[in-house]
Amino acid sequence: MTQEAETATDDVRVVFQAGVKDILVAETQRLGAKNALVLSTPQQSDAALEMAETLGELAAGVFCQAAMHTPVTVTEAAMAHAKEVAADCIISIGGGSTIGLGKAIAYRTGLPQIVIPTTYAGSEATPILGQTENGIKTTLSHPEVLPEVILYDPERIATLPVAMTVTSALNAMAHAAEALYARDRTEKTVHLAIDGLKAFVDGLPRVLAAPTDLTARAETQRGAWACGTVLGQVGMALHHKLCHTLGGSFDLPHAETHAIVLPHAIAYNARAAATELLPICDLLGGENAGRALYDFAQKLGAPLALRDLGLKEEDLDRAAELATTKPYPNPQPVTRDDIRALLQAAWAGTPPAH
Ligand code: NAD
Repeated sequence: MTQEAETATDDVRVVFQAGVKDILVAETQRLGAKNALVLSTPQQSDAALEMAETLGELAAGVFCQAAMHTPVTVTEAAMAHAKEVAADCIISIGGGSTIGLGKAIAYRTGLPQIVIPTTYAGSEATPILGQTENGIKTTLSHPEVLPEVILYDPERIATLPVAMTVTSALNAMAHAAEALYARDRTEKTVHLAIDGLKAFVDGLPRVLAAPTDLTARAETQRGAWACGTVLGQVGMALHHKLCHTLGGSFDLPHAETHAIVLPHAIAYNARAAATELLPICDLLGGENAGRALYDFAQKLGAPLALRDLGLKEEDLDRAAELATTKPYPNPQPVTRDDIRALLQAAWAGTPPAH
């Protein structure tokens, strides 16, 4: 059965349904497209080829070189390919890396995008594009970047390995956690954030008990949509800033870094926003939202220490420096010494201090 989500943005069509292959042709035709370019990472090229085969004469080809942090060199190669095959639509099957490439092409060409997300990162629901050029990652927000159609198929996320299922889910929950205290939050965004968190708190243990349980996977995909949608609607703060710094300057993996930093950033901000963060305590138990997230992550077998991702202890000073040089809105005032202490705990994997 097709279930269309109540979308926060009227221009986006969101469908939750198993068996995306059964609807892909109709969704492509609905956009008036006749020549779709299918994107993926090299690791998911089989899925891209499967989609192209399903599309038959509506497929212009596949481009399977998507990479983490959307390198502009890859985007340029994909653009040349899109031009050569006269693509009139982009179909992205994958996680944030593949979706990022589709967004980068759409930003430059205005081509419509159909996205089939296979992780929980939530990029499909935002008008935000992060790109990397000469080792520097920049982020922009533009209406053209927001995909026109999102097709959530639980079968396509059921292949996500368990370890990545956990870290990707915590990555999604991080969007919702920071949305709870966002300066520009509304009643609606707070509700959406709580819905997203609840979907993961309820659904994730069931997914881990049976990774191919499509009902549980579908519930967590609803969570990913809610968390991604709030990410696109309100401003993020300390947690996202720290992860951006650690990913961009120390080349740490995206989802794992989010999973490790989240309890520490939330504990830090609970000092100033304990009331706003109460929904996390309500969902997970305990009296400190950061500690509750730490215990939740530990129970799920998530990585807990940045040192296990290869970050060196001697890099912590520079990381604290980089994360505090430009001021940004955050509930708890950001000082270099406090952030250095936060990073020490996240590096060692000890529970958050506050
Ligand atoms: P990813 O897309 O980099 O995927 C990681 C690896 O897992 C890849 O090799 C991928 O092919 C593989 N994979 C993905 N789904 C799979 C599945 N179901 N089965 C088997 N393998 C699978 O990971 P991600 O965490 O989804 O994305 C990270 C990137 O997304 C970062 O660059 C981040 O900045 C970006 N991002 C952007 C936004 C935004 O709003 N702009 C939001 C979240 C993340």
